[in-house]
Amino acid sequence: MKRRRPSSYVSGFTRNKEEYPWLTEVNSQSLQSANKNLDNAFTRFFREKKGFPRFKSKKNPVQSFQVPQHYRVDFDRKQIRLPKIGEIKTVFHRHFDGKMKTVTVSVTSTGKWFISILVDNGEPLSKPASFAADTTLGIDVGLTNFATFSNGEKVANPRHLKNSLQRLKVLQRRVSRKVKGSKNRKKAIQIVARCHEKVANQRNDFLHKLSNRIVSENQAIAVETLNVAGMQKNHCLAQSISDVSWSSFFRMLEYKCECYGKTLLTIGRFDPSSKICNRCGYLNRDLRLADREWTCPDCGTHHDRDINAAINIKKFALQDQNLVGVTGAERAIEPVDSLPLGRGMKQEAPPLRAG
Ligand SMILES: [Zn+2]
Repeated sequence: MKRRRPSSYVSGFTRNKEEYPWLTEVNSQSLQSANKNLDNAFTRFFREKKGFPRFKSKKNPVQSFQVPQHYRVDFDRKQIRLPKIGEIKTVFHRHFDGKMKTVTVSVTSTGKWFISILVDNGEPLSKPASFAADTTLGIDVGLTNFATFSNGEKVANPRHLKNSLQRLKVLQRRVSRKVKGSKNRKKAIQIVARCHEKVANQRNDFLHKLSNRIVSENQAIAVETLNVAGMQKNHCLAQSISDVSWSSFFRMLEYKCECYGKTLLTIGRFDPSSKICNRCGYLNRDLRLADREWTCPDCGTHHDRDINAAINIKKFALQDQNLVGVTGAERAIEPVDSLPLGRGMKQEAPPLRAG
């Protein structure tokens, strides 16, 4: 007789295992973590009204499972031992020390297997460094230029998906000509998946390099929160917007800032950053999306639309910090340890500290 566990889903599994013997072929803790994920998804759905949990099909291109404990990592023999699976030859991308937590095993649509291990190295996150107007960078993102900085630098949009679209179309057509369920169709699908993977790799490489450079060169970074999901409802732009992947970029900036002790400042999405003259504050209501350059009728400054927006984003963000008009580092404040970075919300200014 097996001992009954208090948690309801565990006892549920014991009952299921009699009915479906194949469940015993899998590590029981992996089953539990899958169940926990489902439980979380339902809780989120009921409490936060965030989308009904989606069924994870066996045909889903990305598959993964978790192993919370009872695994062993052997750096010398280049192996990882997983329960019920055994030794697995592994290529380690780095050596690590610390307390090992959950392992996630995943496979991509092209059949590449990955094991990622959550490790707690016990080191606290570095405290945010102080910043001032001259160590803060404003970033305006767009479709023509991926990013425009408040210092005037422009980063072109690499359009990775668009560059491969022609090839993808050809490959996709080859799939549709193959008999359904045939081996050749499977092979053709693999080739499409490989092409998609290449696009994703190119994009990630670009985003990681850019965000790394921005975070290492500046003490604080100001960005505008964008309603990306709302913008994608425009069907003409949806593909370009998902290709440009601003959300991933902002996510990378957010966690890299946290990791390296930098500050990410966000301004609300309703601040008209491109329509205001950054020199005199004149609001140009007639500015259309097609106007890439304009001259301020009030002070006569000639503006590049994107650079002006980037400067304004930096200005608004610093205004929220009570730092506008402050030159040099003499009045630089120490930012509060955890800045509230609510999505789509205007950030509360932290209290100024004397110093
Ligand atoms: Zn002006």
